[in-house]
Amino acid sequence: MLDNLTQRMARVVKTLRGEARLTEANTQDMLREVRLALLEADVALPVVREFIAKVKEKALGEEVISSLTPGQALVAVVQRELTAIIGGDYEGKASELNFAVTPPAIILMAGLQGAGKTTTVGKLAKLLREKQKKKVLTVSCDVYRPAAIQQLKTVTEQVGADFFASEPGQKPVDIALAALDWAKKHYHDVLIVDTAGRLGIDEAMMQEIAALHTAIKPAETLFVVDAMLGQDAVNTAKAFNDTLPLTGVVLTKLDGDSRGGAALSVRHVTGKPIKFVGVGEKLDGLEVFYPDRMANRILGMGDILALVEEAQRGVDVDAAQKLANKVKKGGDFDLNDFRAQLSQMKKMGGLGSLMDKLPAQFQQAAGNADMNQAEKQMRRMEGIISSMTLAERSKPELIKASRKRRIAAGAGVQVQEVNRMLAQFEQMRGMMKKLKGGNLAKMMRGMKG
Ligand code: GDP
Repeated sequence: MLDNLTQRMARVVKTLRGEARLTEANTQDMLREVRLALLEADVALPVVREFIAKVKEKALGEEVISSLTPGQALVAVVQRELTAIIGGDYEGKASELNFAVTPPAIILMAGLQGAGKTTTVGKLAKLLREKQKKKVLTVSCDVYRPAAIQQLKTVTEQVGADFFASEPGQKPVDIALAALDWAKKHYHDVLIVDTAGRLGIDEAMMQEIAALHTAIKPAETLFVVDAMLGQDAVNTAKAFNDTLPLTGVVLTKLDGDSRGGAALSVRHVTGKPIKFVGVGEKLDGLEVFYPDRMANRILGMGDILALVEEAQRGVDVDAAQKLANKVKKGGDFDLNDFRAQLSQMKKMGGLGSLMDKLPAQFQQAAGNADMNQAEKQMRRMEGIISSMTLAERSKPELIKASRKRRIAAGAGVQVQEVNRMLAQFEQMRGMMKKLKGGNLAKMMRGMKG
């Protein structure tokens, strides 16, 4: 799935090559791929539609910055918008729980059975204890399943937090109030209240948790939802959001195959920040939520900008960067670098396609040269450098008359051609000296796409 999407995007990007602006037509193709990516990631259809409409509006208005190609610019718009929607106003502080209350701060957990509530209580207790040095008490209000109470006791003990015992037959509100009383008396910083979940949305269950909320007035009401639910997460999220003033979302089971589309849907439906993600059954499997990472996951493209760049240029970014660094540090530009430059130019589609993208000073130097001729000559220059010894390549000063004859013979060319190549190399070296690192990097960016 991931490969397909990447390939599809790369193909569209290639067709966008050379176009200076995002247009209705070229944007359409790209957006179709993005739409498919979102649907494949299980984002709910109405959410996808709304998102695409928004991106389109932004993309068509966007001037493409000189260093970016239209494909990259559009992908950047998609990523930015997706991150903004998933992160919203909460970006950067999404994970902060509200402790700005008289202790204990109460955290109420809501969600369907099997969503991962009890596991998340354990994980959260561990995180708060270890990272924030909080004294944590947990309690289960699931009076329907004795096993659930036992499960909470087990995970709580595993993470070294305190557990408030409850029994089937008690009323959920009574249990919660008794636990709260206990927490106050024993100076707990945080009380986490686990609740009963049903297999589906259920009116009685909703009433029960609403009553609990009213009774204990939690600082945080976290909706726990299984990322594997995909589109179904929308209905569940809506039902809980309508019943309870949620303060945040925990998206569990992101360690599975899910592409995380539920994140976008749930965020869209509830308008509440995703605060944590569950990434495993073990009790250390809880992470702070990062909207940008989730955007990438949903798009299924990893660092898509990098991929797109690669597809567009076929250029060895590492090599270019190394050279830029070397020149910046005042290192000498040698024949190895010169050859690397030549081969990069070839990869970028030859001199012909490159020439109009080069800075004016290069264009003037090239004059009206015949490009085919120039490319042939480029290959010959590579051949000449290949006939040199390593020492000669890194120290061109060594190349005197006798060496020139040997090199020319090895490459099957006249000595004059070796001379011409060395002159061109010197010219390039002179140019490199003038270009400070920053300018070189800029020049190389200018060559892209
Ligand atoms: P609850 O009914 O909402 O309390 O759900 P549980 O906490 O009992 O979790 C249901 C199942 O999901 C259990 O088998 C958990 O081990 C599993 N689970 C919970 N969170 C995660 C997670 O982040 N990743 C994975 N892989 N499994 C999880």
